[in-house]
Amino acid sequence: MKRLAGKVSIVTGSDRGIGKGIAIALAKEGCSVVVNGHKKGKDALDAVKEIKSLGSDAIFVEADVSREQDVRNLIKTSVEKFGRLDILVNNAGILVSGTITTLTEKDWDRQMDVNLKGVFLCSKYAIRQMISQKKPGRIINIASIAGIVGFPGISAYCASKGAVTELTREAALDYAKYGITVNAIDPGVIVTDMTKSMLDDKPTRKSLMDNTPVGRFGTPEDIGNAAVFLALDASGFITGHNLVVDGGWTAR
Ligand code: NAD
Repeated sequence: MKRLAGKVSIVTGSDRGIGKGIAIALAKEGCSVVVNGHKKGKDALDAVKEIKSLGSDAIFVEADVSREQDVRNLIKTSVEKFGRLDILVNNAGILVSGTITTLTEKDWDRQMDVNLKGVFLCSKYAIRQMISQKKPGRIINIASIAGIVGFPGISAYCASKGAVTELTREAALDYAKYGITVNAIDPGVIVTDMTKSMLDDKPTRKSLMDNTPVGRFGTPEDIGNAAVFLALDASGFITGHNLVVDGGWTAR
């Protein structure tokens, strides 16, 4: 029995990387998936094709999560296609490098717009839809261990993820009465385009591995498995939680 059969999800930033891993993990459990990215290209079409090959339905909706009009359209198009929305995974994110003294105001704003305002906007319209359905819902925010421990050289990124972690707890309180749970996943180092330049640099790779007790970097599938767990009906008593999936990084 597929554990998410009949459910409908939106995974932001799911044309590649962790988002795609989450989209595939949800689809394997029978969930329909709205794949999103800010540009329609081959990656988006491939992700939709792969999900359909697993027997679940999928569409791609182009939307920049930092733009309110795009987000309204993302939720509207999804509900028009599938008739409901059960699960929102706020995964879309960027990593802008820089310390407080080197970052420009423009870079700071872009980092916050995508990683934090994007979570606010997508949650706003998804939760309104979930409340109107009068059915339980799931919001899953992809934060980061960079929101709970410091990482040098990525000040705005750390601040954005710390804020997502706290917004998760706050929203869990506001929407518990509607049966909507709000949780975060805090990935450690996961092999994706975002970490490619770090992992291609030998000394950085070694230092990251030295801090990962299980002795391997994470995969999008690792995060997908955690997202499925939080999406299940059986997880309805879990809300406001940060699920660390980091191979032991923060346990040290
Ligand atoms: P990635 O760069 O491989 O993928 C990012 C995704 O976000 C892409 O699908 C891209 O299209 C989408 N995206 C970017 N800006 C967008 C926008 N404005 N609107 C809509 N979509 C947008 O990165 P990833 O490693 O897969 O990261 C996914 C999430 O996981 C991010 O929130 C990231 O901060 C978080 N994370 C990653 C790691 C890691 O080690 N890779 C660790 C902790 C947290």
